[in-house]
Amino acid sequence: MAVQTYSMATQADLQVGQYFKVREFACHDGSDTVLIDDELVNRLDRIRTVFGSGITITSGYRTPSYNASPSVGGARNSQHTKGTAADIQVRGVPPLAVASFYEETFSTGGLGIYNTFTHVDTRNRSLVIWKNSGSNTVSSTGASEGYWKDYQNAADPGGGSTDNDSGTITVVIKRLQVTFTWENGNSYVGNYFPSETDTHIYFNDNNFYRCKSDFSRPEKWNPDQKYWSTYPVISNITYNNIYTEGASDG
Ligand SMILES: [Zn+2]
Repeated sequence: MAVQTYSMATQADLQVGQYFKVREFACHDGSDTVLIDDELVNRLDRIRTVFGSGITITSGYRTPSYNASPSVGGARNSQHTKGTAADIQVRGVPPLAVASFYEETFSTGGLGIYNTFTHVDTRNRSLVIWKNSGSNTVSSTGASEGYWKDYQNAADPGGGSTDNDSGTITVVIKRLQVTFTWENGNSYVGNYFPSETDTHIYFNDNNFYRCKSDFSRPEKWNPDQKYWSTYPVISNITYNNIYTEGASDG
């Protein structure tokens, strides 16, 4: 890992790696200095090559002051301030698919899964993964209904209502592979980064699902009637790659 220092004034159109220019990594506050890690560029090149689709870097280098500004609300010591992180959108590719590739391909760094983009970084440690549904604070998709607990940032989620979920969160991530087999015999295999409680594993796409911790009894949440019903369409739940870490959006 070697972080290079560039100048927007003189090097904005300088090519870095195979596909990118310095300007694509520039801080959104207009700063001249741009820090870019060589290994980050290598990985973005790899993603660009594998998916064969353009990458938009929605946030690359951030000056510490820009990172700390309320509009950004980045984590302190964010990897973005070191030039080792990029939030990316790969045209036509869901963030989860980008994340799955990153997780399968690289054993070090950081990986954040968001609704509309994927955060990747090259921090020098075994890969840490977190999931965030859109803001940089602990999210609460459905938390008001008391069944869903998202996880990230090792932050105090606060605001817990009925369940005792204040304090540091331990991030437990399993990558679930789930087979859906419909009545007409068609089947589909989905990949999920689930959340876990003592008794259940929760995962979602447009719908919310859960199963017991031993992967039995798959259920689907019915938002209108507000109850879980058994959902035999789901079978063959398997998992791999368990990470336990207090993670944050570096
Ligand atoms: Zn990021």
